[in-house]
Amino acid sequence: MIRRNSRKVRVGDIYIGGDSKITVQSMLNKPATDIEGSVKQALELEKAGCEIIRAAVPDMAAVELIKALKSNLTVPVVADIHFDYRLALASLEAGVDKIRINPGNIGSIERVKTVADACKSKNVPIRIGVNSGSLEKNILEKYGSPCAEALAESALAHISLLEQCDFYDTIISIKSSDVKIMAQAYRIVASECDYPLHLGVTEAGTHNMALIKSSIGIGSLLLDGIGDTIRVSMTDDPIKEVEAANGILKAIGLKNDCVDIVSCPTCARTKINLISLANEVESRLSGCKKNIKVAVMGCAVNGPGEAREADIGIAGGDGCALIFKKGEIICKVPENLAVETLMAEIDKL
Ligand code: SF4
Repeated sequence: MIRRNSRKVRVGDIYIGGDSKITVQSMLNKPATDIEGSVKQALELEKAGCEIIRAAVPDMAAVELIKALKSNLTVPVVADIHFDYRLALASLEAGVDKIRINPGNIGSIERVKTVADACKSKNVPIRIGVNSGSLEKNILEKYGSPCAEALAESALAHISLLEQCDFYDTIISIKSSDVKIMAQAYRIVASECDYPLHLGVTEAGTHNMALIKSSIGIGSLLLDGIGDTIRVSMTDDPIKEVEAANGILKAIGLKNDCVDIVSCPTCARTKINLISLANEVESRLSGCKKNIKVAVMGCAVNGPGEAREADIGIAGGDGCALIFKKGEIICKVPENLAVETLMAEIDKL
């Protein structure tokens, strides 16, 4: 996979863009006044593999949350600002690592320059976050709907505003709840500039549909080398967003500090409780950092052969299971010892 050659932008102690790893983001969803609850949620997200955490800053009181997050987290913190440029300045003073703001929404060019200068003096990047709900009136009138071209034009206009202020540490997102529009908009912007891209399908829905939409939207772009950081938007616990985002990276081979489990769909040949067995194997290996492929197959007729690419695997028999490595059977065990035997063999790898 050849990645788009994007500009590298520093965010706290990490980088977005260039050859940096593709990072996973999420956003807190507690009230900003609930500092204790928000910090607790942020720590849980960090533990779950969230590498950048965003918090909404709806008013001056919320700036206190930025301070609390900064003193408790090791991952970078992003302040999400709408309209009031003074909230961006206060968040910068509180030590935030990145500002998400749309320069066109904060008023005069002087205000944009004030924020850009303050960010520059602290080495803090800005993410321009365009989405279909926040398109400028003139662009919406020109195109008649929030189509991909309209979103891209809005993003490029915001970029231009920052460039007029001599500011280039910019990251861009161009989100739509329509997967086709979102993907097309990112492709247009990707071809027009070298700024790093924050990928996401916005308002993607509840868990299952958000997972499908995000996998298609984010996944298809990543497969074409487009995208530098990702956020799965989900009407659910943000931990699920992080799990989904890491799952997308894992599915397309961009995350190697985990086990890849392949399991068969079962069929009339299956004589073992494969569904519960596969779930148990997945749960037991959820924290394993080994970069290995583990197969969990329903039968011995096709299992080892079908999973020849796996480093190790299990194939169900009638009340028993075969353990195999690289397609070669190494032992046969009763069904109730299958998982334990597999785990012991994985420990040896
Ligand atoms: Fe059926 Fe065996 Fe293939 Fe699983 S591995 S789908 S049980 S043939």
